[in-house]
Formats: sequence, C-alpha cells, structure tokens
Amino acid sequence: MLNVILFGPPGAGKGTQAVKVAEKFELVHLSTGDIFRANIKGETELGVLAKSYIDKGQLVPDEVTINMLRGEVEKNKTAKGFIFDGFPRTIPQAEALDLLLKDYNSAVDVVVSLEVTEEELIARLKNRALTSGRTDDADENIIKNRIQVYKDETFPLKDYYTRRGIVKVVNGIGTIEQIFSDICTAVAGE
Ligand code: ADP
Repeated sequence: MLNVILFGPPGAGKGTQAVKVAEKFELVHLSTGDIFRANIKGETELGVLAKSYIDKGQLVPDEVTINMLRGEVEKNKTAKGFIFDGFPRTIPQAEALDLLLKDYNSAVDVVVSLEVTEEELIARLKNRALTSGRTDDADENIIKNRIQVYKDETFPLKDYYTRRGIVKVVNGIGTIEQIFSDICTAVAGE
C-alpha cells in the first residue's frame, strides 16, 4: 500500500491537488471535509452533528471523525493505497490512523506539507466564498477561527511526522501544475 497524507492549512489547495495525485498514483482519495459536506447535504445524523461544528469553524469531535474515517477505509479494503486530505487534524486522529493502518500491515508512507503564507490563505478563502457556497468560508471571523484551530491543533502534527522522517515540504504558491509536479516528486521519491 502507498499511504499519503496531504497536510496543510485551510485554503492551501489540498483538495485540488489530492484529486490529481489520487488519479496519478491510483489511490483512494478520502477528504473528511467532502464526506462531512455530503452528509450535511443528505441531512444524515452525522451531517446534522458535523454542521453544528463546521459552521463555527470548529473541528468535529475526534471520536466522530475517527469512526467515520475508519468506515471509509474499511469500505476500500482492496485499495492500492489512500490519499488522506483533511485528516488527521489532531494528534489523537494521527494515533488512530496509525493503529488503523497497522491492521492492514501498513503505515503512513509520506506526509506532503503544502505551505502557503497566511495572507494568501485568507485571500484564497475569501475568494472561494464567492463560489463555494460554503458557510465556513462566508465570514472572515470563521475563517480566522479555522486558521487558529489549525495552528493550535493541527500544526503540531508536522512535528509528529517529522520525527519519523516522512515529511516532504512543498511550496503551495505557484501554478496548479507546478505544485502538482512537486507533490508527485515528493510522493514518488518517498
Ligand atoms: P478546509 O481545510 O478548507 O478548512 P475541509 O473541507 O477540509 O476544509 O474541512 C471543512 C471542515 O470540516 C473543517 O473546518 C472541520 O470543521 C471539519 N473537518 C474536516 N476534517 C476534519 C477532521 N479530520 N477532524 C475534525 N473536523 C474536520
């Protein structure tokens, strides 16, 4: 198996790149944000719960997110590998992912850290709000909250994986194709 984490703050471009990387390396793309949004649209129980957090720019609780992710991995038992986009976002999520992949005699192989300045992130998210219809993009205070949550809860994961020597830093500013090419080099060379 080849398991890739696409890591980075909200607005770094993870979703755009993850779709392309999944296609190239024949990986299953798991975006926790997309799965939550599909559940919100379908008005499932999970969707109603997730919406109450997402609309405030907060994280959905670990237990809920981990159970959902585990279910998605189990639906794809024969996958060649996964690209995780928006997961893990906390240390407990990362620990749960390690345990889950162990059941498949596998592990996280590479963490691509997509790096973008804060000014650029805010500009991109405000711009995305014009077309995404996402409630969590619509308000600058919610955007700021998401970036703060990223700094407090998610950024420490970079250290968690750096200690294992599996982090590859990629500049997230440039053309989509240039960034894609840099990510492919990082993934192929792991
Ligand atoms: P972005 O990275 O652009 O903020 P996502 O689409 O990845 O957006 O996620 C949208 C929202 O869904 C997050 O702000 C959070 O509330 C929730 N979410 C997504 N992934 C997770 C996760 N792994 N743990 C907890 N909450 C999550």
